Amino acid sequence: MSFTTNGLVCAHHHLYSSLARGMPAPARTPDSFLSVLEGIWWRLDAALDADTLYWSAALGAAEALCNGTTAIIDHHESPFAIEGSLDIIKDACDMVGVRTNLSYGVTDRWRGNHMTSVVDVNAAMSEEAQRGLNENIRFIKNGGNGMVGVHAAFTCTNETLDVVAKTAQELGVGVHIHVAEGLDDASAGERLEPLAQDNWLLVHAVHLDRSLRGTIAHNPRSNMNNSVGYAQPTKWANDIVLGTDGIGADMLEESRLAYVRLREHSITETPETPWKWLSNGEKFFPDVRNDVVTWSYDNVDSPWHVAFTPGIRCESVVVNNIELVRNGTPTQFDMSEIRTKAAEAAIRLHNQLK
Ligand SMILES: [Zn+2]
Repeated sequence: MSFTTNGLVCAHHHLYSSLARGMPAPARTPDSFLSVLEGIWWRLDAALDADTLYWSAALGAAEALCNGTTAIIDHHESPFAIEGSLDIIKDACDMVGVRTNLSYGVTDRWRGNHMTSVVDVNAAMSEEAQRGLNENIRFIKNGGNGMVGVHAAFTCTNETLDVVAKTAQELGVGVHIHVAEGLDDASAGERLEPLAQDNWLLVHAVHLDRSLRGTIAHNPRSNMNNSVGYAQPTKWANDIVLGTDGIGADMLEESRLAYVRLREHSITETPETPWKWLSNGEKFFPDVRNDVVTWSYDNVDSPWHVAFTPGIRCESVVVNNIELVRNGTPTQFDMSEIRTKAAEAAIRLHNQLK
């Protein structure tokens, strides 16, 4: 019986998406996973600049901290503001006080100003993919904590996947990649099988047709939101971690959702399983075990209690012996100022949408 836990880990986030709330709807209602990407996320990321990215990341990080999440593995894309983008996200997260592991998502779907959803996998690596890869290399070589990001196999050529895998190995880091999230990426298993390593982070794996080396990041809320199906993480021998895929970073709530989604699929399952997925994120950030998060409920260390107790609030967060949240309020930054700046940035971002 305890009021406290370690700092929680969001093992797959997109901090760039924090300003999506309230964005104008696409002209055509998306009716498939691919059209959700085309109509929403690929419009949003193409409109980002340094300023809107900073406030998007600051808002997402601040909301994470206030929910007891002290570490975020982020996957970023801003095709018209690539260079330096990982430093901008890191600066925003440092200001808030959350730990990060950052990646830039390499993709061949852009060639100049032209975007295509159907990439010729036999084409040469695009200049845009090289620029994305260079951002990963620059950030990691400068001492940044990160992996090499790839959007997904289906938006990359074979050459790009080969080059990325080789570069990650040379840098001594893993690859952070969306894998078979939708049926559009069903060939990911076949294409990545010769490349994947144990230090890769494989995100979603909903339609993965074979086992791959690496850790699998399960994102139950996002998968439901995108109607891509149930990932059934228990079918894999891989370590499973929990992410949100950009829909906030309230990890206690994500674990509750992961439990009912799991239980919907299998009546013999228990809340211990998603609790393990949540704590598995600590292997990416061992220091979160020294963080102390105090909650409003006295059995927050019991998976069975958490699964059936709504509204458990984060009351305080201590990181590196500093109380970053006290009585539910951040001590090192002004939450209302971040919300105001983020709202102003959101207006600018939404006006940039094409
Ligand atoms: Zn994602």
